[in-house]
Amino acid sequence: MVEVLSARKKQVLEKGKDSFMLECEKPSAAGSVSQRACVFCGSRVVLYPIADALHLIHGPIGCAAYTWELRGSLSSGPELHRLSFSTDLREHEVIYGGEKKLYAALTELIVEYRPKAAFVYCTCIIGLIGDDVEAVCARVERERGIEVIPVHSEGFKGTKKDGYRAACEAAFRLTGKDNDAPVSHAGINILGEFNLAGETWIIKDYYRRMGVEIVSCLTGDGRVAEMGRAHRARLNVVQCSGSMTYLAKMMKEKYGIPFIRASYFGIEDMTRALYDVADFFGDAAIHENTRNLVSEEVSALLPALAEYRKELEGKKAAVYVGGSFKAFSMVKALRHLGMETVVVGSQTGSPEDYEYLKEITGEGTIILDDTNPLELSSFILEKGADLLIGGVKERPIAYKMGIGFCDHNHERKEALAGYAGMLNFAKEVHASVTSPVWKYAPARRGAGGSV
Ligand code: SF4
Repeated sequence: MVEVLSARKKQVLEKGKDSFMLECEKPSAAGSVSQRACVFCGSRVVLYPIADALHLIHGPIGCAAYTWELRGSLSSGPELHRLSFSTDLREHEVIYGGEKKLYAALTELIVEYRPKAAFVYCTCIIGLIGDDVEAVCARVERERGIEVIPVHSEGFKGTKKDGYRAACEAAFRLTGKDNDAPVSHAGINILGEFNLAGETWIIKDYYRRMGVEIVSCLTGDGRVAEMGRAHRARLNVVQCSGSMTYLAKMMKEKYGIPFIRASYFGIEDMTRALYDVADFFGDAAIHENTRNLVSEEVSALLPALAEYRKELEGKKAAVYVGGSFKAFSMVKALRHLGMETVVVGSQTGSPEDYEYLKEITGEGTIILDDTNPLELSSFILEKGADLLIGGVKERPIAYKMGIGFCDHNHERKEALAGYAGMLNFAKEVHASVTSPVWKYAPARRGAGGSV
């Protein structure tokens, strides 16, 4: 029997046994040691891939170290995003204020690196000492002639989702600038796609083959100028809905651009995403191209998956990811490999998301919101999972439990989106789950694991 903190009792349920609505979208329970990232980290992950912008973290050096190179977002050009600049606030600034240091750092960095725009991230300490970051940014913007945008992401002021919102507000300030560059009648923006291990390029290639133009991708392989014309796309396609739906809503209100949700993971969701865009344009040529693309990709993929399925059939998986939209795709993708999801949860899911997870999972599945390592590892053992899908913070949990692990978070080095990504996913899951090393893990032997 897994012990759950009393403050979290309604954030964990077992399908078929518990009938209440899962509680979510609330601050982490004190003492829970949440796996969630802070508000600042939430905004940093969303804006990080904008490769020709300066990213300056206003706070102590630890905040910058925590988020340095936190995404495997590739760039086809400049790589300024990979540098993690910090104002490195010390005791002196905590007492007398950090505005002078911020002004000096911003000016020096803009002169040195000539970015196309600058983001200044506010961390916990800025919320406490009360620096007027808006005023400093406005001054530097006037003096240097580029957008200098404060990101109000003080770490303690909410959940990771509040960080997404702060990032969307900052990104929104870069839209609506360019009314001249030519844009196709079938132009879309991709939102919430971060070019991890080059995934944006895979997705862009699918749309190109369909005859659809990508006006802007926010923010994978992102460029400031490209974001300036995003307001002229006909449709916003929002992946990772937790992080970018807020921006899509702002763009709908200001520019009248409708949006749809999409996931590029797994066969069904990838295919659905392409057909939804084709349906939106209602263009016979785009439909025809989409049909050909899907048929070509799926017919090449299925036989390859069948090989991996032979050894994975009947294995069990636990999934814990940032956004629940990705969790939906994982549950479906694992079925193609013959695997059942026995534990699933997310850091930022909404009530509707968890209801949908209930619909698509089997009886007895544990569904969790904002879990902690103790709960996660206990449920993994109780349900006999052979694999954990998560991110960098979940990796040690899997290894301590003596089970396979697949990194599906923003640090991943393997492209997992699209049909090509589904094959990589199968390869990675197979290699990890069937590794002989697990039989030597003490926790695994104690739990009578199936490897
Ligand atoms: S913003 Fe606050 S919670 Fe986030 S890394 Fe910095 S100190 Fe930690």
